[in-house]
Amino acid sequence: MARVIAIANQKGGVGKTTTTVNLAACLAEQKHRVLVVDMDPQGNATQGIGVDKHACENSIYNVLAEQIPCADVIVPTPFANLWVAPSHRDLVGASVELVNESRREFRLQHAIEPLLEQYDFIMIDCPPSLCLLTLNALVASYEVMIPLQCEYYPLEGLSELLHTIIVVRENLNPRLIVSGILLTMFQHTNLAKDVIHDVRTHLGTSVYETIIPRNVTLGEAPSFGTPVIHYDKRSAGALAYLALAEEVTSRG
Ligand code: ATP
Ligand code: MG
Repeated sequence: MARVIAIANQKGGVGKTTTTVNLAACLAEQKHRVLVVDMDPQGNATQGIGVDKHACENSIYNVLAEQIPCADVIVPTPFANLWVAPSHRDLVGASVELVNESRREFRLQHAIEPLLEQYDFIMIDCPPSLCLLTLNALVASYEVMIPLQCEYYPLEGLSELLHTIIVVRENLNPRLIVSGILLTMFQHTNLAKDVIHDVRTHLGTSVYETIIPRNVTLGEAPSFGTPVIHYDKRSAGALAYLALAEEVTSRG
């Protein structure tokens, strides 16, 4: 059975997509079968994993809005063991289009249910808001990974996200857990060290040991549609995501 992991934080630019793409690629490199589900209308995960979102006939939009089988939209990536259910900009409208549909929060869960035996990991990249798309991701998942940037006010908005997760667990998806908080974009500054200290003090064991450094290579790789381990496998970014993949599998 697949481990279904949503990568969520309604704060923008904290490293959700970078984590989805690179953790997925590292897990695939370790011979796990991995599906990335791109729930963000921006489509950055689709592009970052080497798939042209404009060339895809169908997308996760058709799955949510028209309920076509998820298997019909999944495309292989250029990398072994790695597939993607691509995004499309039409996803922006999905929240409004579904507003009168009953059980609209369960669309993604129903769509991926038939796929659970086919993959070891299903990783869902969320958009930067607590919208219906993120809600669908949380309802479909068993775990949420929350990236936090090692910069100013990283905990801002976290209580709102944790509250949403509790509401989802109580009303829509009782098996949902926070698998961990991931510290991202770490630089060796006193501020970043203070942030790490504060986050570990407040959130304790739920924080991953692995910390993702700020690394130029991680910022460059997406413009080549390549996860960092296939772009520069010796870079600090690649080593960090490989370590995270080890930690995620060992915490299984
Ligand atoms: P959004 O909320 O818009 O979806 P996000 O949370 O998915 O953003 P990313 O797109 O992963 O965040 O990262 C934001 C930007 O920072 C991107 O340009 C990305 O390439 C860059 N970036 C992410 N992580 C790192 C890192 N560890 N080192 C350097 N650059 C990074
Ligand atoms: Mg993103």
